[in-house]
Amino acid sequence: MGCRGLSLLSGGLDSQLAVRVLQRAGADVEGVCFVTPFFAADAAKKAAAALGIKLHLVDFTDDEISLVENPPHGFGGAMNPCIDCHATMIRRAGGLMEKLGYDFVSTGEVMGQRPMSQNRQSLGVVEKSSGLKGRLVRPLSAKLLEPTIPETQGLLDREKLLDISGRSRARQMELAAEFGITEYPSPAGGCKLTEDGFGRKLRDLMEHEGLRNRRLVELLLVARRFRLPDGTGVLLGRDRNENAVLKEAGETEGLGTVVAPVNCPGPTALLPAVRSDDDLHRATELVCAYSRCDRLEGDVMVRIGSVRASVPRPYDRAKFKDFQIC
Ligand code: SF4
Repeated sequence: MGCRGLSLLSGGLDSQLAVRVLQRAGADVEGVCFVTPFFAADAAKKAAAALGIKLHLVDFTDDEISLVENPPHGFGGAMNPCIDCHATMIRRAGGLMEKLGYDFVSTGEVMGQRPMSQNRQSLGVVEKSSGLKGRLVRPLSAKLLEPTIPETQGLLDREKLLDISGRSRARQMELAAEFGITEYPSPAGGCKLTEDGFGRKLRDLMEHEGLRNRRLVELLLVARRFRLPDGTGVLLGRDRNENAVLKEAGETEGLGTVVAPVNCPGPTALLPAVRSDDDLHRATELVCAYSRCDRLEGDVMVRIGSVRASVPRPYDRAKFKDFQIC
């Protein structure tokens, strides 16, 4: 007995348990984490270090964006194309399996845990569309599924794999205690695509500027976001760090026009594409409305790219409420 497995490792509890259960069943396991602007590898790195296993990091951004644009099996509760995302990750892990000589790919999926993406039918769809038939091991629910090739070949001890199903986390908590796993993010945490607010921003970007500019996609992680009446998008910094990021994006990376107050403290705005003069004027008013200009006598002066302009009062945040995406 003995074989090598490549296990999808998000850093969540189930993905860590999958590694430990496989090790107990006789496998030598390494981890793989698929990284996108929506899903950082921090938790996976921490988990791999705690488990003492090697972690492969794979940039998954282009795949994920293509799936968000066109998810063959649709979205979950927000803009998360989980079934196709999972199948694509497993297919990519299968490519690594072939290339690096592993015997199987594994995941921490639990049958029935998530109504849409982890019911029996979805697990079957994922296996089929991943192209890994017989080489995809779900150690936490393995005894409820057909034996895989490593099990039938006797490389993995099926008796030591588990039969967890359903939404209760009781068995997982017991196993965590048994294996001494104490650090893990919440089951739903980690992927921005599952968050409603983030989904609104992403959909707005997709419909207006598109998702092909990776930096604009990365900038979804910062700033308030508005869509003005003629279609101009405005990213409005919420603090000093975000203001610096937006300034850099506009002035150094050429991602759009920067608008910022000159004679009082306030937010920096980035306009990736100005659709009309009216929108540009609205954007200057928006910047003024979020500035700390109450002690300023007279009007706020703003910088629009390299040009300066005075913006007449009054400035009213409420006027922009209907244009705020997030
Ligand atoms: S939660 Fe995010 S990373 Fe995970 S399968 Fe769904 S879309 Fe992909």
